[in-house]
Amino acid sequence: MSKKNVCIIYTGGTIGMTKTKNGYAPQRGYLPFLLSQMPELQSSQIPDYILIELNPLLDSSNISVKEWNLIGKTILQNYDQFDGFVILHGTDTMAYTASALSFMLENLKKPVIITGSQIPFCEIRNDAKDNLITALLIAAEGTIPEVCLYFSQKLFRGNRSTKMSADELIAFDSPNYPALAQAGIRITIDKNNILKQTDEPFSLQLLTEYRIAVLKIFPGLQFGIFEDLVSADLKGIVLEAFGAGNIPNYDQAFLRTLENAAKNETIIAVCTQCFKGSARIGDYESSLPLQKNGVVSAYDMTVEATVTKLYYLISKGYSKIEIEAKMQENLRGELTI
Ligand code: ASP
Repeated sequence: MSKKNVCIIYTGGTIGMTKTKNGYAPQRGYLPFLLSQMPELQSSQIPDYILIELNPLLDSSNISVKEWNLIGKTILQNYDQFDGFVILHGTDTMAYTASALSFMLENLKKPVIITGSQIPFCEIRNDAKDNLITALLIAAEGTIPEVCLYFSQKLFRGNRSTKMSADELIAFDSPNYPALAQAGIRITIDKNNILKQTDEPFSLQLLTEYRIAVLKIFPGLQFGIFEDLVSADLKGIVLEAFGAGNIPNYDQAFLRTLENAAKNETIIAVCTQCFKGSARIGDYESSLPLQKNGVVSAYDMTVEATVTKLYYLISKGYSKIEIEAKMQENLRGELTI
């Protein structure tokens, strides 16, 4: 049987960074050099792979819609030649990129595994090697038709994952959905948790850089400062509310902001600030103004999934009503109905 073929796309991030006088930073050509020196990658058990370095290589704090489009285009151009894809990415915004790609890559039939590390390859003690090798093996399997995030022995659905530790090697979690696979002595894939493949042909939806805001509510927040923010060209707001989607419903400035948003056709989706669980408007009286102003519940979607789903649906050109309906539907396993 011929060897499987994986396309690795390096976007930047700690995994391939080198030490500079300003701290860790990515450098072109450095990761390909390191990989060429790794005896493990010469093993017959490792699939054939090519490595594409994006230009420029970025700390993921700088990754935005433009880079999501570039990653999407790179996958599209190489889609037919490979069994799967591994995207090497910084951990800081990895869950955003994983979520964005899960929507952009429509009717995906091949695994797209995004990974990185907390300690770079250039350090003796690192989590880079295991994360890369295991991600490569899972991508080569070619059996998981979705965008996943692999980190520290666990494979998560990309749009369910979130970074939960800045310094531990177990840096990601999927608070509202079980892991898709565990990489212990064996790599065990839980088939029941994986999305079903569709019959429609694979396609790429590029995103447009619409104006979207994320607003996290906290006790004492002076909503007055946001009144001017809600202008006609603000397409969407992701509101991080308390608990089950509750807001300070006696705050007049906030109520005015909600009404203005409704007048301007700005779509508002409510997430919970809690690490786990769902925002469901209507459970409490304190969420009533949200209901009155047509705000939608993001249910158990992560903030990362909610933001990128908004970009996606607006970029598709749907009407406000269609977007509000689809925000509350499960498109890629991002939401539990
Ligand atoms: N700042 C780095 C990045 O996100 C952190 C990492 O990769 O772990 O690019």
